[in-house]
Amino acid sequence: MQNVIQFLILAFVVFLFMKVINKLKKPAPAAAPTTKVCPYCKSEIHIDAVKCPHCASTLEKPEP
Ligand SMILES: [Zn+2]
Repeated sequence: MQNVIQFLILAFVVFLFMKVINKLKKPAPAAAPTTKVCPYCKSEIHIDAVKCPHCASTLEKPEP
């Protein structure tokens, strides 16, 4: 009987553990992009950049 109780407690603990793991595994909301690719030199630049730091091209503002 003692073994059954121990097993049930262990099963309950494992169940709670899995619940927590599943909660942590929830996909985080997709982060907003912080970079874009310069259309002239294909370098990665800041999303709000209006001038490319690599090739000094003036970039068009992205359409809203
Ligand atoms: Zn560039």
